[in-house]
Amino acid sequence: MQTQAPHKARHLLWRLCRGCLPTRSRLLERRVECTLNCPVCDEEIEDELHIFFRCAVARDSWSAAGLSSVLHKATYQQTNAMDRIFAICSNESSDTVGRVAMLLWCIWHNLHKLQSNNVSETTEANLVRWEKPALDWVKCNVDVAFVSGSGRTSMGLSFRDNSGHFMAGMTQ
Ligand SMILES: [Zn+2]
Repeated sequence: MQTQAPHKARHLLWRLCRGCLPTRSRLLERRVECTLNCPVCDEEIEDELHIFFRCAVARDSWSAAGLSSVLHKATYQQTNAMDRIFAICSNESSDTVGRVAMLLWCIWHNLHKLQSNNVSETTEANLVRWEKPALDWVKCNVDVAFVSGSGRTSMGLSFRDNSGHFMAGMTQ
């Protein structure tokens, strides 16, 4: 379990930044019938910002992980979860980014244990396909690697335009 978590955390961060987590608001956009309430607190709309940053349970998790200062930092108050995560990945140390990735994974994993109406594996697999960004948008994909035993985390970013062409990249 522990050795698998980093890979899962990395995969979750990657899917989150691609906007392809099957949250309820996203499922509704895709015409999958379900309610919009958060399965944890039964309040507000369940989108990425709520699940990972705004839900009372999420806020408790950030503070339990010792990451409250990151959560509340004025420069990370973007209204969209992907923008927040991108800002965190760009400004925090690789150690902190790794801890945030693990925390997000734990929140997502716990949420899914609570949900009885789970999305089938095939639906999830279909959602994990790279799509070109809309016209005049740039898509940034993020991948994070944890080197076991070394205490090191590395990350890579790649930017693509709306025709899918590679524009720029960064590794750290
Ligand atoms: Zn909630």
